Amino acid sequence: MVIVMKPSAPKEEIRKIHDKMIELGCQVHPSEGDNYYLLGLVGDTSKFNQSQILANPHVDRVIRVTHPFKLAGRLFHPEDTVIDIGGHKIGGNNKPCIMAGPCSVESEEQLLTIARAVKSSGAQLLRGGAYKPRTSPYSFQGLGEEGLKLLLKAKEETGMPIVTEVMDTETFGTVEKYADVLQIGARNMQNFPLLKRAGRSNKVILLKRGLSATIEEFLMSAEYIMSEGNSKVILCERGIRTFETYTRNTLDISAIPVIQELSHLPIIVDPSHATGKWSTVEPLSKASIAIGAHGLIIEVHHEPECALSDGAQSLKPAKFEKLMNSINKIISINA
Ligand code: PEP
Ligand code: MN
Repeated sequence: MVIVMKPSAPKEEIRKIHDKMIELGCQVHPSEGDNYYLLGLVGDTSKFNQSQILANPHVDRVIRVTHPFKLAGRLFHPEDTVIDIGGHKIGGNNKPCIMAGPCSVESEEQLLTIARAVKSSGAQLLRGGAYKPRTSPYSFQGLGEEGLKLLLKAKEETGMPIVTEVMDTETFGTVEKYADVLQIGARNMQNFPLLKRAGRSNKVILLKRGLSATIEEFLMSAEYIMSEGNSKVILCERGIRTFETYTRNTLDISAIPVIQELSHLPIIVDPSHATGKWSTVEPLSKASIAIGAHGLIIEVHHEPECALSDGAQSLKPAKFEKLMNSINKIISINA
């Protein structure tokens, strides 16, 4: 961290800050030019309150040299994290992991039909929401624990591990009992009590990027989970809000290589929520795999016209099969 003093800062004020920083446990390397005075801080400054330093009227700027996400960042963990989900490995150089299934679990017949279809096309994990974060309180809210039981049944039949959303700390324990991967949705990316609870779980957490979260905010949310002891975090880019309204969100494809530079955690793409349009799901999946995403999560429904949520972005099983064939070609070229 570097503290840039204002040119007018009196020497005794600079000395006070200098001594304070030493008191806080770091080494201070001053540097004086004709028009500036810098204090270079060496040591663990991650817990320093930048806002308190900036509150000093003699301080012009504070520049962070290292990223604030110590656990999620690559600095102290340069090698890629690989996470095992029921024998399927995600992250690093492993083959991309494909998660697919309905937006919401609606019935046994619906879930099993879709689970069998996505499994036979090559998906490794089954997704399906039992607790649904809906914009309107009048929309279908999910089957709750009944939905979790159906997911377990589908897992027993197909052998596919389950990915499902957890919306709050009250239901966390229930979802944890059934799921292999607990999804924290975009709207909850900064629900700090939920992130801390996820950090005390031993299950894999799939953390989705918030609708208007910067990459740094996204990684700081992963940091919350990891700081409580759970390092099994998968990140998911699912589109962000922009001025464009033709698509539901805008897929920030550049977030994939940027996050891979900054973090060792696996990063996957959700092309379904990124645009809200089924027709864009295959091209965005191909793009994501081509640039090295560690996996995809895709909504599939055998009767999208009757889906209780997100029908417009759901692929029919035949279209999902086609998508799998396209991405497998890319995977074999990349290999
Ligand atoms: C979902 O996966 O169904 C979902 C609601 O995702 P998001 O939180 O990304 O909107
Ligand atoms: Mn959905």
